Amino acid sequence: MHVLLVEDDEPVAESLRRGLKRYGFEVDWVTTGAAALAHSGPYDVVLLDLGLPDTDGLDVCKALRERGDVPIIVISARSDETDRVVGLELGADDYVSKPFGVREVIARIRAVMRRVRRRTADEGTTGGADRYGTRLTVDRKAARVHVDGAEIALAPKEYDLLSFLTEEPGALMSREQIMEAVWDANWFGPTKTLDVHVAALRRKFAGVVAIEAVRGVGFRLEIVGGTAPTGPSGPGGPSGPGGPAGPTS
Ligand code: CA
Repeated sequence: MHVLLVEDDEPVAESLRRGLKRYGFEVDWVTTGAAALAHSGPYDVVLLDLGLPDTDGLDVCKALRERGDVPIIVISARSDETDRVVGLELGADDYVSKPFGVREVIARIRAVMRRVRRRTADEGTTGGADRYGTRLTVDRKAARVHVDGAEIALAPKEYDLLSFLTEEPGALMSREQIMEAVWDANWFGPTKTLDVHVAALRRKFAGVVAIEAVRGVGFRLEIVGGTAPTGPSGPGGPSGPGGPAGPTS
């Protein structure tokens, strides 16, 4: 997943960039509103600071929104509620206040991307299953998974877990993020149930996906013999007109 980071504060941008990279995100960093608007993409989400040296971030937000429907997450040191409201009214999808942790930002990005995918699926514009590598397809509308054209029988939570982990192949997902997304819980207890479900997926998708455990953090799913998803196979795509959104290939 590609992130356009618009932030003039170097220490903040650097730590954000390092943190995002660690979790498998690609980051393009620009320091001005003009550079953000001149960036040709593609990118999947914009992290936008409001206090920029050349222009008000809110104007950048508005201009980006007029061009397309790429998700925008506003980051700001301004604690003013008005900014938050105006930002959201101008089309920002979410808002984080400084200071923030990288994990919080990642959680927001993933939540926004899930909402976008759901919206796209509801509109029926994806028109089919998402393909991963040459063998695996995940049809998020029908909640069905196929390997080499044959449907794989999955328990509901096995499907939810696979669907979540394949959202970004190669990305490191923390246990907390997985528990929150798949089990709908702020999970404070043991996460043994997660390991049980991971084991089941490893068994059912042996040779198709690899789910690597990252000690003390969580899991990373890789497509065996393949890289990025080729994206929705239907006509059109999730991008708005002229918008830079949508899966990169
Ligand atoms: Ca700033």
